[in-house]
Amino acid sequence: MNTITGGGAGVNGAQPVRGLPKSILQYIPEPIQPLFENPLFSAGFGLLGVGSLVAIGRKGFQSVLIQGRRYFFVSVEVPSKDKSYHWLMDWLATKKDKTTRHVSVETTFHQHESGEIVSKINFIPSVGTHYVFYRGRVIKVERSREKNVIDMNSGNLWESITLTTLGTKRNIFQKLIEEAKIMALDKEEGKTIIYTSMGTEWRRFGHPRRKRPIGSVILDKGISETIITDVRKFLGNADWYNERGIPYRRGYLLYGPPGTGKSSFITALAGELQLSICILNLAGKGVSDVTLNQLLSTAPQRSIILLEDIDSAIQTNETNQPSSSSSNQSSNAISSGGMQYQGYSGPSSTMQYQGYGSSLTFSGLLNALDGVAASEGRILFMTTNHLEKLNKVLIRPGRVDLQIEIANSSPYQLEKMFLKFYPDHQELATQFVDKVKHLSLSPAQLQAYFMNFSTDPVEALENVNQLNLNK
Ligand code: ADP
Repeated sequence: MNTITGGGAGVNGAQPVRGLPKSILQYIPEPIQPLFENPLFSAGFGLLGVGSLVAIGRKGFQSVLIQGRRYFFVSVEVPSKDKSYHWLMDWLATKKDKTTRHVSVETTFHQHESGEIVSKINFIPSVGTHYVFYRGRVIKVERSREKNVIDMNSGNLWESITLTTLGTKRNIFQKLIEEAKIMALDKEEGKTIIYTSMGTEWRRFGHPRRKRPIGSVILDKGISETIITDVRKFLGNADWYNERGIPYRRGYLLYGPPGTGKSSFITALAGELQLSICILNLAGKGVSDVTLNQLLSTAPQRSIILLEDIDSAIQTNETNQPSSSSSNQSSNAISSGGMQYQGYSGPSSTMQYQGYGSSLTFSGLLNALDGVAASEGRILFMTTNHLEKLNKVLIRPGRVDLQIEIANSSPYQLEKMFLKFYPDHQELATQFVDKVKHLSLSPAQLQAYFMNFSTDPVEALENVNQLNLNK
């Protein structure tokens, strides 16, 4: 007699249609065994098992991949606020032709002294993934941009570049960034970097310019040396300021007629002291009390902040206010359009700013100038052709520590300018000075005149009437 087990064991060795095999069934608790003998139920169970296995397999594969990536790949992330970010972008731009097919365009302008404008188009890797070859390796470059995160330093959207390559040592990236740095610094060697203010950030203006030799700007005797010595002393005196709790900043005002070399001298000074120049455009769009403060506190390290023609950037309808000893600019109201300012330093003074839409107030400017100076020191140069138009509050000590007049050419400068164009003609230079010293000529006028007789000092001496006529 055959024993019938469960709901359908084989009869005479024949395999009935049934659920799980007995060998497995024995591990299932007895009360629910009949369930598993049901073929439909156990088929579903089988499918579930296969599904789970696939899921586990996939998970395992992913973690192997992650582990593999961890073990076999190295990567480095460079955020846009880091200095090396720009080195890297420039370096990547040099790799563009061979490897990077998706690029963004960055156009820069440079205006020569002659007025000629030269533009240069650079291709930089666009946001996304690129591959470059470096020292026999493929490097994956991912440039990403956060949609909602702003880099507080630049006011731009937060960006980063992530470099990834096969290998276990990160020093490949150290070498790469070092190379990018050398390339960038080589490009800047002997050059002065110029930044301009754009909204809340400083942007590089054109390519670094060849340094202007300080000796090429001829100021009256001793002036150049006085300023250079003062700035040098300031740069070397951080401890002195810190120990005394004095804000580490220094302001200079160069005033005098146009064409006397104020801007040229500041550019040359920056070159001489290896500083960059940040040109602050007060009449620029979007310059407000807040942005000005931010600009002054985020100026690139080791730079001169330049406020050119400060009188035309700020216009006052009551000139030469009596000097106020302190910055008692308490309440200031801005009238419609954000252009008028009332209530500083003197009873009925009113100031206007050129440019529409700007919400910069005079007291905002003063506050920004007085604001917390960066630890590495702040050097501010202002220039004006009209000292008499400037409010004394703006140029009181603490804001302007050294005021220097850059006047039209003295006999000393006339002689030096002549010799600059016609070296070795000392005698003619002396005669030239005698002929023109009664004219109040700016070095810019002299320069234009000598350029007409670029090779002939005698002609330059004999045609001084032209200088008279041009006055
Ligand atoms: P400013 O800022 O006083 O108006 P700039 O520096 O713009 O004068 O000078 C205008 C031009 O005249 C420049 O090309 C500059 O080379 C020349 N120049 C002006 N002053 C001097 C100077 N003192 N020595 C040599 N060149 C000068």
